Amino acid sequence: VFAHVVQAPEDPILGVTVAYNKDPSPVKVNLGVGAYRTEEGKPLVLNVVRRAEQLLVNDRSRVKEYLPITGLADFNKLSAKLIFGSDSPALQENRVTTVQCLSGTGSLRVGAEFLAKHYHQHTIYIPLPTWGNHPKVFTIAGLSVKTYRYYDPATRGLNFQGLLEDLRSAPLGAIVLLHACAHNPTGVDPTLEQWEQIRQLMRSKALLPFFDSAYQGFASGSLDADAQSVRMFAADGGELLAAQSYAKNMGLYGERVGALSIVCKSANVAAKVESQLKLVIRPMYSNPPIHGASIVATILKDSGMYQEWTIELKAMADRIINMRHQLFDALRARGTPGDWSHILKQIGMFTFTGLNTEQVAFMTKEYHIYMTSDGRISMAGLSSRTVPHLADAIHAAVTR
Ligand code: PMP
Repeated sequence: VFAHVVQAPEDPILGVTVAYNKDPSPVKVNLGVGAYRTEEGKPLVLNVVRRAEQLLVNDRSRVKEYLPITGLADFNKLSAKLIFGSDSPALQENRVTTVQCLSGTGSLRVGAEFLAKHYHQHTIYIPLPTWGNHPKVFTIAGLSVKTYRYYDPATRGLNFQGLLEDLRSAPLGAIVLLHACAHNPTGVDPTLEQWEQIRQLMRSKALLPFFDSAYQGFASGSLDADAQSVRMFAADGGELLAAQSYAKNMGLYGERVGALSIVCKSANVAAKVESQLKLVIRPMYSNPPIHGASIVATILKDSGMYQEWTIELKAMADRIINMRHQLFDALRARGTPGDWSHILKQIGMFTFTGLNTEQVAFMTKEYHIYMTSDGRISMAGLSSRTVPHLADAIHAAVTR
């Protein structure tokens, strides 16, 4: 009965790793994966995470019972505080409902399902380009996906005028997906002044902000600085949604820990919204897993562990920034044609190199460098050892 099923293509991002794994070359480099690697190219488990796990293991009172549909209460409260700030009026006024979800993706999906059911506007605007999973998540939840201009290939920066024009002509009340910081794949973020203009325009047209916060602390090394965009919108008293992921900033990729927050106009509305979120979640997966959320809650509620986390987080962010400098210097040393200053300017895990599909294919074939075909490289996958090889490959690709 399944003989008619056709072979589906590999996921464009995860497929890069599949191809990398098949390559026997000893010089191969995987710059496709959006996960942090150490200088030695190894995945990293934070010390503070190991410590939290040890505490959890040693605590014999912990059991493996089901969590509530909305997840671990402590985790939800602490996650909201992390993104909105401890002095957030919305939190003090109990106008925010936060539910634990399956990492960033699951948080986006639950938010999208809720909007499709309970929000009058079904059109969502996503930046062009954006993370490849965004259009899929929103479409499958029943929303209609449109794009707004974001990246300007000519400047390798923000197309701010295009962004404003597109949001200005969006229908009243439309949903707008915003990357809270460290835009994926471009590494281009609005400045605080630009965020303020975006906020004013969006509020004047009742556009509903849906923030995707997958890199808080990873962009600048500061958890507060990376949440400024979200906090700016929360401070005006209006509604918003925010999807948080602990995959990158705590290195909890496979634990699938995240949260969806919906900021409402009153505590009464927030309680009703939460009751409906439960109806969204229950038939999807009943309730979320306990282990990862317990790790996060353990770290966030202990001031010593929290401090330790911020130090380890900053070290990851700094290593990535250092890789930007090394790659930039290596290209300059080779006299590689072009202006590569965007490598230094772009923010977060990725550099949008500006290399085209053919150049990427050439680098993969001749240099065994694996990256997405849009020219995005993960700076977190680079090391001092692999920078020269990458610089050689880029040089060869652009001077061919
Ligand atoms: N949003 C963006 C922009 C991302 O880059 C990612 C991870 N690549 C996610 C959401 C979700 O990741 P996860 O589900 O692993 O938390």
